[in-house]
Amino acid sequence: MTRSVGLAIAGEPGLTRYIREAAGRDALGHAVILSGQGALEEAARFLAAAMECTGADRPCGVCGPCEKVLRGVHPDVITVADPDHKNISVEVLRRVAADAYILPNEGRRKVYIFPDCGLLDPKAQNVLLKVLEEGPPQAAFLFCAASSALLLPTIRSRAVHWRLLGQAGEQGTRGGERLCGLLCGGSAAELTAFCAELENSKITREELRGLLSEARDRLADALAACYTGAGDALARELAGALGRRRLSAAADVLDGFIRQCGYNVGVGHLTGALAAALIV
Ligand SMILES: [Zn+2]
Repeated sequence: MTRSVGLAIAGEPGLTRYIREAAGRDALGHAVILSGQGALEEAARFLAAAMECTGADRPCGVCGPCEKVLRGVHPDVITVADPDHKNISVEVLRRVAADAYILPNEGRRKVYIFPDCGLLDPKAQNVLLKVLEEGPPQAAFLFCAASSALLLPTIRSRAVHWRLLGQAGEQGTRGGERLCGLLCGGSAAELTAFCAELENSKITREELRGLLSEARDRLADALAACYTGAGDALARELAGALGRRRLSAAADVLDGFIRQCGYNVGVGHLTGALAAALIV
C-alpha cells in the first residue's frame, strides 16, 4: 500500500536521498532555502510531500497526502503568490504569518512554498522573521531562490540551505568551492592558474555561470556568517579570511561575471579577466 514508487527530484539523487533520510528521522526543518540552477519548485513540492506523507520511506508518492501535494491540491501546502502585484506584498505575507498559527486542515504540517524569492523584497522578508523564529512547530517555509543571496542574512540564519546542482552539476559545485578556497588563502598565481585551467578545460559559458553562481552563493553564506557567526566550515573560513568588505567586493565582481555569462562573450575572455578582477 505504501510501497515507494521511486519518486525523486529529477537530476538530484543526493538531495532526494538526504530528504528521505531526514524525513525518516522527523528532522525536516521548519525553514528551508532551496537554491541553485535546478528545478527548485519541484524540489520544494517533493519536500512538502515528505512533510505530509503518511506512508513509509517518505515521500512515498502514493498515499493520499502525497498524491494531493504532488497534484498541487493539498489544503495545507500553500504556494504563496500575489497576482495583483509585481512583488509579493507585505499584506499577503502578513496573512501568511497569521495563517501559520492556525492548525492544519488535514495534514501533519502547514507548508508555505515561495516559488521565487526574487519576488520578496527585504521589507516583505522582514514580515516573516518573527514567524520563522518563534512560529508554531507545525509551520514550514520553503524558499526557492536562484541565489540564496536574494534572502536577508536574518532569514538565512534561521533556515537550512540546500543547493540544487542542476545544469551546473557536480563539477560546478566543486569548481565554485575551489574558487572560494583560493579566495581565502590562494596566491595570485594560483588564482591565475585556476582560471587558465578553466579555459583549457573547454568549459561552456553555462557551466562557467553555474560555477560562478555556486561561488557567489558561498560568498553570500560567508556574508551571513559575518553577521550571525553561523554557517558551514567554508562560510566561516571565508568570513574570517576576507571580512565583510572584501567579501562584498568579491561578490560584486562575481555578479558582474555571472551577468556577462548571459551575453555572447567568449569564455576565454571571461576566464582571462576573472583572475585579474579577483586579485586584490
Ligand atoms: Zn506518501
